Amino acid sequence: MSDTKSIFSKIIDREAEADIVFEDDEMIAIKDIRPKAPVHILIIPKEAISSLDGFKPEHAELLGKMMLRAAEIAREKGIAKTGYKVVTNIGDDGGQIINHFHLHLVGGEPIKTLI
Ligand code: 5GP
Repeated sequence: MSDTKSIFSKIIDREAEADIVFEDDEMIAIKDIRPKAPVHILIIPKEAISSLDGFKPEHAELLGKMMLRAAEIAREKGIAKTGYKVVTNIGDDGGQIINHFHLHLVGGEPIKTLI
């Protein structure tokens, strides 16, 4: 993992632009810059945890809140009834590019590909 600040930390700190759909003290949700479906939102903790592998027991509530937020955003975007995927990539073989944990919320059409 790189020690340099991730693009997501820069977005959280308003050093980089993003289309923000939700924010509270613990997380931010933004539109993916290269959407792979009509709805493609990233839910990102403000704490720069590298991946799911970096989560500790004390993060359990945060992880739960992020999953619940994904479901809430899906309802707001009108895709809850048609369905969607919530995915997180871990490490090289998992296809993780940004080393700052995030959930992908994708939907709005049948999702055939892995994100
Ligand atoms: P990963 O492969 O790490 O799970 O996914 C990273 C995601 O972040 C990709 O879907 C990519 O399109 C998105 N992404 C990368 N850079 C930016 C950025 O600067 N802004 C936004 N909004 N999304 C980004």
